[in-house]
Amino acid sequence: MSERVLVLLSGGIDSAVALWLVRRGIPASGVYTLTIDYHRRSRGEDECAARLAARAGVSSHLKISLSFLKDLEDQPSEAAMGYRDMGFPPVFIPVRNLVFYSCAAHVAFSISANKIVVGHNGEDVGRFPDVGTSFIERFNRLLRESLPKYRLTLEAPLLPYSKLEVARLAVDLGVPLEDTWSCWGPGTIHCGHCEGCQSRRNVFRELGIEDPTPYE
Ligand SMILES: [Zn+2]
Repeated sequence: MSERVLVLLSGGIDSAVALWLVRRGIPASGVYTLTIDYHRRSRGEDECAARLAARAGVSSHLKISLSFLKDLEDQPSEAAMGYRDMGFPPVFIPVRNLVFYSCAAHVAFSISANKIVVGHNGEDVGRFPDVGTSFIERFNRLLRESLPKYRLTLEAPLLPYSKLEVARLAVDLGVPLEDTWSCWGPGTIHCGHCEGCQSRRNVFRELGIEDPTPYE
């Protein structure tokens, strides 16, 4: 059977680059994208994910919802408060990637894919505990135990790169950066002020190319 790959697509620059890297290696008919929907996502991010999937010509763009994450966040536990006090980023979600990757594995199996590709860059490693080479190796061991006689691996090809290096890769690969999303706000237009927007502006400045983003 020809290769089939599931790319976790948020709509951000990193996952878009991961998708374009996969597309460079195999025909579009073997590429599927999965967006995991939860309360932190904005409509703008969702629309970007759908546009990116369409422009990459993927076989199918899938979406699953994890609405329970909001219920848990609305009633923060003592443990969650402790994590905030310890300085974990406000976007931290407990065991996020174990949950997200497990959902992706479930979907990958259901579409007979043998590879899951995620778009974390090297700078995510210092910020979050559940990214990085060792975490991914262990997750792959769990996959082998969970799905005997089925070959499924998770890969994070952008881990060796910084955020800026990933953006350079985006330009080299011809990723439509105007269809990517970076804002942490809830709207359909980038706010221009949040940490996500500031980092986005900075990336375009460093790249020396015109920022195509309409800001509020
Ligand atoms: Zn913003």
